[in-house]
Amino acid sequence: MIEHRQILRLNSAGHPTGWINYQVAVKLYYLDQIVYECGVSSMKIMGGYNRLTGLRSSLNVNSIIATRNLHKLDYSSFTPTLNNNTLFMRDANKCLYCGNDFSHRSLSRDHVIPLSLGGKDVWTNAVTACRRCNNHKGGKTPEDANMMLLAIPFSPSRVEYLILRGRKILADQMEFLMSHISKNSPLLERYKNF
Ligand SMILES: [Zn+2]
Repeated sequence: MIEHRQILRLNSAGHPTGWINYQVAVKLYYLDQIVYECGVSSMKIMGGYNRLTGLRSSLNVNSIIATRNLHKLDYSSFTPTLNNNTLFMRDANKCLYCGNDFSHRSLSRDHVIPLSLGGKDVWTNAVTACRRCNNHKGGKTPEDANMMLLAIPFSPSRVEYLILRGRKILADQMEFLMSHISKNSPLLERYKNF
């Protein structure tokens, strides 16, 4: 369905800035805001009929478009919003205590250092846990509960966040995003078989 397609938007320097839907992309094309296209796929958007010629207009919207800069991106200060869906995606829907895969509704947000002990509700203190492990851990630290964390929680970079927030990411978009994250990103290992 074309309505669900997402276009990856870059700034003119080629840094990914966000996902947009095709309506926004069409607008940017008509406003002459596209600096260049760099996806290998595109989708054809049909427009209206010309009354004189009877021909229908169409526009090819590329899967990755670089647009004129609206504002400067500050990469250093980027902190994405912490929400459960993205957190579970970051941890590949695995409980970071028992290592099993679960559906989103069976997962929960665990605070490594519990809030009651002064832990914060931030990416670096939040992990995905199944309800059973979360209950078992209770208000303790992993050490006190004798439960080992299988991975270190991290705050996603802007590009990692785009990967986690993307819906039905196309192969060329994924390849582009992957080439823009750090070689040490834990997501590389997790999503390399995309
Ligand atoms: Zn578990």
